[in-house]
Amino acid sequence: MWVYRSDISQANDVLPGSVVEVSDEHGKFVGTAFYSTASQIAVRLISREKVGDLNALLRERIRAAVGYRERFVRNSDAYRVIFSEADFLPGLIVDRYNDLLSFQVLTQAMDAEAVRETILSELTEQLHPAAIAERVDAKIRELEQLPERQSGLVRGNQASTVFAMNGVKFHYDVSEGQKTGAFLDQRENYAAAASYARGQALDVFCYHGGFALHLAKAGCKVTGIDSSRPALEIADRNATLNGQGIEWIEGNAFDVLRDYARDSAKYDLIVLDPPAFAKSKRDVETALRGYKELNLRALKMLKPEGILVTCSCSYHVSAADLLATVAEASRDAHRELRLLENRAQSKDHPILTGVPETGYLKSMIFYVSR
Ligand code: SAH
Repeated sequence: MWVYRSDISQANDVLPGSVVEVSDEHGKFVGTAFYSTASQIAVRLISREKVGDLNALLRERIRAAVGYRERFVRNSDAYRVIFSEADFLPGLIVDRYNDLLSFQVLTQAMDAEAVRETILSELTEQLHPAAIAERVDAKIRELEQLPERQSGLVRGNQASTVFAMNGVKFHYDVSEGQKTGAFLDQRENYAAAASYARGQALDVFCYHGGFALHLAKAGCKVTGIDSSRPALEIADRNATLNGQGIEWIEGNAFDVLRDYARDSAKYDLIVLDPPAFAKSKRDVETALRGYKELNLRALKMLKPEGILVTCSCSYHVSAADLLATVAEASRDAHRELRLLENRAQSKDHPILTGVPETGYLKSMIFYVSR
């Protein structure tokens, strides 16, 4: 649960990042929370009860998060270990890449020295990583009024590794400025898409090749498109690591798709996984126009009996919005679509029924019958 600054009537001399007890307007105790003096979200609830020992609570939450992954993550040594609110650890994100851990703190409370120490020590006890790296988002730290920090190793000295998901290998390097690591939230969707693999495939917005490598492993001849050269360089190294030949095209996806459509290029399977077009509610309309345009272009390039995998990671664009947009595109393209799978993010990015913001990724798989 969050409380916005504008809804707080009284905060007595609260220090940045402190643990506070929250009461409602009648003075009734609501719970214990982290307090931020900078964020619009001033209060993030960590417990419905009074918290005597914060370290013990943090350690217990980390153990629970690790236990949940042990139970539900399959076929991968890379996954999100801790996903902030969704693991009742607001402001903390931890990803595992085989023997390396990468973490990010987003709030004053999680950045406190004692809290960082507890987190690192419990993660080490639970997962025995060879090294732990911090991933700093300078913009977030500035907004949260946190002192500047550098990204890099904070424990151990191993800076790179190879991880595997669904039997596909990937490079991971802390020092390469790979700010994002991998899109672990798509892991289960890679496997789903690969189960429909056939013929010629196009991975649009391919980044390090998540979908492309899975499709190639499943037997497709694959082309990947991305506007980022550094991302494509890593994608190509990943292809080599898996003994695959994939064609990578650097360019603006909208332009490349237009050119391909003009040359009447045809594909059996197309993946669209663009960056978030809608960063806020205000952008939704413009974003939907972008999604429609992309899906329309892709549909024009699909052979009959082809497969369209279309994704959106914008929280503000709902599954219903995306489905309606694809339906519109299919009408304009005179194609007939059947929804095969209506998917979301991998299970290591839990969706809390009580916190709708925790669910953001949509990944829909369509059969384009004619
Ligand atoms: N499918 C990827 C994740 C995609 S993230 C995976 O599963 O790993 C979005 C990607 O879109 C980024 O790699 C970014 O470089 C790329 N991108 C952003 N705008 C683009 C554009 N206009 N044309 C092509 N690529 C773009």
